[in-house]
Amino acid sequence: MTVMVTGGAGYIGSHMVWELLDNDEDVVVVDNLVTGFEWSIPKGVTFVKADIGDQEAIEQVLREHKVDAIVHFAGSVVVPESLEDPLKYYQNNTGNSRNLIAAAVKSGVKRFIFSSTAAVYGEPLTTGPIAENAILNPMSPYGTSKLMTELMIRDTALAHELDYVILRYFNVAGCDLKGRTGQSTAGATHLIKVACEAAAGKRPMMKVFGTDYDTEDGSCIRDFIHVNDLVNAHYVALNFLRNGGRKFTANCGYSQGYSVLDVIDAVKRVSGNDFRVVKTDRRAGDIPALTANSNRLQTRLNWEPKHNDLDVIVASALEWEKKLLNMRKSA
Ligand code: UDP
Repeated sequence: MTVMVTGGAGYIGSHMVWELLDNDEDVVVVDNLVTGFEWSIPKGVTFVKADIGDQEAIEQVLREHKVDAIVHFAGSVVVPESLEDPLKYYQNNTGNSRNLIAAAVKSGVKRFIFSSTAAVYGEPLTTGPIAENAILNPMSPYGTSKLMTELMIRDTALAHELDYVILRYFNVAGCDLKGRTGQSTAGATHLIKVACEAAAGKRPMMKVFGTDYDTEDGSCIRDFIHVNDLVNAHYVALNFLRNGGRKFTANCGYSQGYSVLDVIDAVKRVSGNDFRVVKTDRRAGDIPALTANSNRLQTRLNWEPKHNDLDVIVASALEWEKKLLNMRKSA
């Protein structure tokens, strides 16, 4: 039995590949390498350079490798970019996922795990952690493109033999604690990555987008989950499906929030570098506070977070930045 990881050369996908290898699973990676890196795929893992929208190519991979489950990460992930270029997001995240799901159905693959996002909720109507039964009201094409895929999976599962788990990520951060892979995307926009680049001297300063929100320190609040914990939740989800689970949707987070300013303080403290921070205007599409109620994942799948510590998240991200700098020097 082989697990196919789409987007396996990307940030979260490459961590998933290691999680599967650590659990003695056979893995095939499918990635179009538009944002992923071939060097991030571990040696010995089969890699197919293909687009998930290429149904024929995907069907061939599923058949050739006797794939029994798909873990689907491939897609575009930058919220502000999705506001400027919505059709890119509906193509990459929705249209291409449709073809991937069709390939799964046609090839008889019965297990599907989908990387979704808290962006499907939009701005919460209530304060405090958001549960899965909250209103789904995405505020960006990114969130809508992911929600549309959730609905395609749900409807396909009603009509065909397809069991699924949908995981809605809050803010994923940090890098493999064994240092084997990390967040390598050039021009990344995510807070912890940006702050760690500033701490590593890769950028002269960073901006805080908005300090006039209705939060304790005026900056936005997010729930940061360590990427190793996140991919472990996917492995737990895979076993749920293998043990007869049929359908399950859950949030992935730690049910607690840190403000943007808290995060920057942590990066300064852990790195020992007091880099320059400039407070600027709000960024379009940002929601003031977003934290997960992740009880469902913990109680129903027995998933246990192991790295719920902002300093651990930050330290692992800083380590990876150093590695990237050394890789660049030796290239
Ligand atoms: N943020 C910031 N400066 C940056 C990057 C992000 O102030 O250089 C803020 C952003 O406005 C948001 C929070 O950090 O309030 C988290 O943003 P990120 O892009 O990491 O994730 P999102 O929550 O948008 O998915």
